[in-house]
Amino acid sequence: MTELVDTRTPDPKKFIKGATGDWEMVLGLEVHAQVTSESKLFSGSSTEFGQPPNNNVSFVDAAMPGMLPVINEECVRQAVRTGLGLKAQINKRSLFDRKNYFYPDLPQGYQISQFKDPIVGEGMVYLDMGEDGEVEIGVERLHLEQDAGKSIHDQHPNMSFVDLNRSGVALMEIVSKPDLRSADEAKAYINKLRTILRYLGTCDGNMEQGSMRADINVSVRRPGGAFGTRCEIKNVNSVRFAGQAIEYEARRQIDILEDGGTIDQQTRLFDPKLGETRSMRSKEEAHDYRYFPDPDLLPLEFDDAYIAALAKDLPELPDEKRARFIKEFGLSAYDASVLVADRESAAYYEDVAEGRDGKLAANWVINELFGRLNKEGLNVADSPVSAEQLGGIVALISNGEISGKIAKDVFEIVWTEGGNPAEIVESRGMKQVTDTGAIEKIVDEIIAANPDQVEKAKQNPKLMGWFVGQVMKASQGKANPQAVNEILMAKLEL
Ligand code: ADP
Ligand code: MG
Repeated sequence: MTELVDTRTPDPKKFIKGATGDWEMVLGLEVHAQVTSESKLFSGSSTEFGQPPNNNVSFVDAAMPGMLPVINEECVRQAVRTGLGLKAQINKRSLFDRKNYFYPDLPQGYQISQFKDPIVGEGMVYLDMGEDGEVEIGVERLHLEQDAGKSIHDQHPNMSFVDLNRSGVALMEIVSKPDLRSADEAKAYINKLRTILRYLGTCDGNMEQGSMRADINVSVRRPGGAFGTRCEIKNVNSVRFAGQAIEYEARRQIDILEDGGTIDQQTRLFDPKLGETRSMRSKEEAHDYRYFPDPDLLPLEFDDAYIAALAKDLPELPDEKRARFIKEFGLSAYDASVLVADRESAAYYEDVAEGRDGKLAANWVINELFGRLNKEGLNVADSPVSAEQLGGIVALISNGEISGKIAKDVFEIVWTEGGNPAEIVESRGMKQVTDTGAIEKIVDEIIAANPDQVEKAKQNPKLMGWFVGQVMKASQGKANPQAVNEILMAKLEL
């Protein structure tokens, strides 16, 4: 293992209060991400999810005698692309090792993994922590390995079953440095990693289906002190559980230390029902994996041209897209982060904003559209309002043809009935009245009908709001609010 370096300045906002003073948590994550590929790492079997048990199993996956692994080039390509996306060192020569242990769902009796010489070395993930600014989380390494099968214990009273569909599926293990200092940072890290993998198309990031899961290493220490002994929480499969598991585990360790105890280096499991972590095994029981180079596989080697070609074809990644949105459309860092969180949302926004008021477009996409989609449990891909339609609404507001308020009505019509916003506004007479003569007429009528209010308003100019309301009502919301204000001020002599 490489030497641990502390890259962070202790932040009192993140300290945890104990009975004997403040504590700080230190976290390092090992994320397992299933490589997007049609076939497994060393065999031609399908990786399709949801197949009947043992449907996707070749002789290689079942470790029949004499079977030899053949590296899947696509998985290598995906691992290198991921490394490039993590701004990481790509190792032109890497090795596959055997990690030996016995388990019923591991027919080979070893897992093919990478130990000393992984395919990808050090990289960096940037987190946007809102008010706390940008945080840099170091990546230690990324290596390729095979997944194991699955033991099933709940289908028969006295028998267990084994499903080898996952046996041999390619995983990328992405190991972070111990640079994380709070549950919120760990959650942001998992989310950011998932976003990057999805942009790259190298892992679908689907945690419910197990295509992404995290082992979370937790230790506590006095702020800025030496690193404490860590416990590792295995196989956390949701961002929410990660947060709960970390909070629980840090508190557990603090309680032990404050009672004068010491932390036993353990592997633990999080139980979502109880909201607790519990011990699986301690370091003394840890396996000796007897790693050694797999004699069936040659070293993995490629040249600069191979890496350069993959780098050239990478899509625009979330950090770059976010920077571009800020520059090109004048967005706030926060709005830009929300919009680039997934590729579909970013593409939708760009279609709305292109050639229009970018900030107004961001408001409409984030507040009106995402708000409504969330409420109805829909994805942006299923939005009943297309980017072209929403762009049409934004253009009508910018041109002063409709007010923001009327625009919400137009949005509602497009959402439920469809149609072209400009035509809807035209045919239903929803256009804003900017004709000052028409507005003046309404203002005169309201002033004439309410002499008492006029007197009061002269004493208390705040009452002008009441008049604005009356004019808007009389015009069915169509009067241009700015014109209404100006005319009222003049007529009420405020
Ligand atoms: P192992 O296979 O033994 O778990 P790895 O090197 O694969 O070892 O992973 C160790 C992980 O634990 C890394 O993410 C690393 O950042 C993290 N880590 C190491 N020391 C600590 C510590 N004291 N507290 C929290 N996390 C730690
Ligand atoms: Mg580990």
